Amino acid sequence: MRRLPIYFLLDVSESMAGEALYRLEDGMGAVIKTLRTDPHALETVWISVIAFAGQVRQLAPLTEVASFVAPSLPVGGGTSLGKALSFLMDEIDRSVVRSTPDRKGDWKPIVFLITDGKPTDDVAKAVERWRARYAGSVSLVAISIGHSADLSVLSQLTDAGNVLTLEENTDANFAKFIQWVTQSVQARSRSVGDITKEEKLPELDKSILTRLNLDKPLDRVDDSNAFFVSKCQKTQLPYLVKFEPRSARVNAGQASFDSLAYVLVGCYPVKNTYFEMSADQPNVATVDSNQLHGFPSCPHCGNPVGFAMCDCGNTFCISGPGQQTCPWCRQTAQFSRGQEGDPGVDLTRARG
Ligand SMILES: [Zn+2]
Ligand SMILES: [Zn+2]
Repeated sequence: MRRLPIYFLLDVSESMAGEALYRLEDGMGAVIKTLRTDPHALETVWISVIAFAGQVRQLAPLTEVASFVAPSLPVGGGTSLGKALSFLMDEIDRSVVRSTPDRKGDWKPIVFLITDGKPTDDVAKAVERWRARYAGSVSLVAISIGHSADLSVLSQLTDAGNVLTLEENTDANFAKFIQWVTQSVQARSRSVGDITKEEKLPELDKSILTRLNLDKPLDRVDDSNAFFVSKCQKTQLPYLVKFEPRSARVNAGQASFDSLAYVLVGCYPVKNTYFEMSADQPNVATVDSNQLHGFPSCPHCGNPVGFAMCDCGNTFCISGPGQQTCPWCRQTAQFSRGQEGDPGVDLTRARG
């Protein structure tokens, strides 16, 4: 039995936390549900899911469609694409049966790489290995969710026609995108062995998914959202606080100048697997707390202040002013409201 191996290589870094990750999780479920009703897919398709943030985990080994269960997706800090590609190549070496003169191996595998950020590790070696040994024998479709992915890296992995951008990540668009992924797998499972059809992907809805056009300059990478990982004092569980940069006009006496402000846009509960999926290196980028506007409540326990700052440099949830114990460093201290004009505290940004 020749299998058609399908790998989903999914970015689960902080920037995917919240809506994007829920959609992806549901989307994986929808892909499987449709493939289960397709006799061609049932016969040939085997699926594996590999997630990467700072670290890489294979959430599901190569499994036939009939017994595949879509895994829940973790979140972590960092976007180690280089590490993820190396993991994928090792996995392909291990699990995909190559054809030899006296044995027919598996069909040409397809990889769907879905990412929304730029790599935080060194990808050069992995890209080189991919191009030398895998690019010709594995189809890779790279999908950027929104405009923050580094298209120049993705375009080194596969033909420009296989680098796609999901223009706007709404429920409706994502559902159509998932349909397109499903159709791509179905089409390939029907055409395996037919050389003339093998490489063709189904038509795209161009208002949703666009192909990379190398004649146009590449979009600038926007990696400027600030993420902080905070901890719930009651449950000890982490959550991510997301701020978006806005430039603000500040009037100071006669002068006025542009200053950068970060505005709260979301707060997402995550599991302790966050720490397992995060990069080993400590977070380094910092933001002055005076630049932050808007503070969340705790998504785990509902404490009204989700962003109290401890001397140890970390943030956590508190019920209000008074004695509180930091879940990071275990110090108990007296907390009071911050005053307008307090000297700013430097907060450590997560890697995104
Ligand atoms: Zn809490
Ligand atoms: Zn502390």
